[in-house]
Amino acid sequence: MSKFIPLSVPNLKGNEKKYVDDAITQEWVSTGGAYINRMEKMMAEYVHTPDAVACQSGTAALHLSLICCGVKAGDEVIVPTLTFVAAVNPVRYVNAEPVFMDCDDTLCMDMDKLERFCAEECEMRDGKLIDKVNGKHISAVIVVHVFGNIANMEKLMELKSRYGFKIIEDATEAVGSYIKSGVFIGKFAGTIGDMGALSFNGNKIITTGGGGMLISENTGLLEKARYLSTQAKDDAVYFKHNEVGYNYRMTNLQAAVGVAQLEQLEDFISIKHANYNTYVENGIPLYPFRADTRSNYWFYSYLTEKRDELITYLGANNVQSRPIWHLIHALPPFIHSRNYCIENAQYFWEHVVNIPCSTNLNKDDVIHVSNLIHEFEKRGEK
Ligand SMILES: *Cc1c(COP(=O)(O)O)cnc(C)c1O
Repeated sequence: MSKFIPLSVPNLKGNEKKYVDDAITQEWVSTGGAYINRMEKMMAEYVHTPDAVACQSGTAALHLSLICCGVKAGDEVIVPTLTFVAAVNPVRYVNAEPVFMDCDDTLCMDMDKLERFCAEECEMRDGKLIDKVNGKHISAVIVVHVFGNIANMEKLMELKSRYGFKIIEDATEAVGSYIKSGVFIGKFAGTIGDMGALSFNGNKIITTGGGGMLISENTGLLEKARYLSTQAKDDAVYFKHNEVGYNYRMTNLQAAVGVAQLEQLEDFISIKHANYNTYVENGIPLYPFRADTRSNYWFYSYLTEKRDELITYLGANNVQSRPIWHLIHALPPFIHSRNYCIENAQYFWEHVVNIPCSTNLNKDDVIHVSNLIHEFEKRGEK
């Protein structure tokens, strides 16, 4: 049996050990310490924002962003159905309700349908977008940059100016992706809307074990997020707290790993891009990323009519793969939430298989997986 090839695993061959060792030697292991500030500063410089706020997870970052953007209990928040459930759960944490939207052929939110939804299902009352069906205020949109592809932000920002909602970018999968042409040329995923959330979970392009970050052009929003993430402490001596805060700050140990990972981010993106090209050169027509962006090529999608059979076949040959996420509007906690004209997402749910994409993969591994897929497809023709 050939060696096991996992779907997406961390790559920790840089300065991770050295920096963690340093943090331990200095005995700064908790939610204060130089590596946290250093990682925030490095990320802010990398994505060209004035500041960044390190958190325990991408999910925590999304939760804080909803609070900072003023989403209130009883509001509605527009979300995609084709994404990881952590993009949607925080809407419930603030006692708001999700409204599920379809995707377009970038796998990200379909902005034409969003526009139609706003025009036909909603109306403006006192400068607020109101859902005509239930009278709820639609106060925000969470847009997810799926697999490293960037959603149509030009259109979304135009809708924001028309309808007044806040935009939270879930850029957890798109760390390092940026736009190469148009109005937002040079802008990184997560820096266009009101706030952007990043993730450094174990399977993301860079990892801190678990961790996340908030980025924004708006330093006021980031300051508020930092305050809420550190227990909303207004007086450190007398422990005076004027708001309900959270213990959502990243630890210095995590940040030590994160600094080392950030040093390698551009190299990781180059490897992801090269491996993507190797698959394509070996006859595996991977689903494309937007040509007018520099994608981080985080996750690779192969479309097939025989999704489950392919996953089983690869598994039997020691190669890990998986379907794209179950559509969220059809999951038990959300079946009673509103959804709007979901069609494309159903197609991608039925056809996408994610295949190995770790930065640890070498060319031979990629050729091996490609050959297995060819064998599988030929087998089916007989
Ligand atoms: C990974 C991910 C998250 C959550 O990030 P964590 O750091 O694991 O909490 C949220 N949304 C999407 C789309 C993700 O892929």
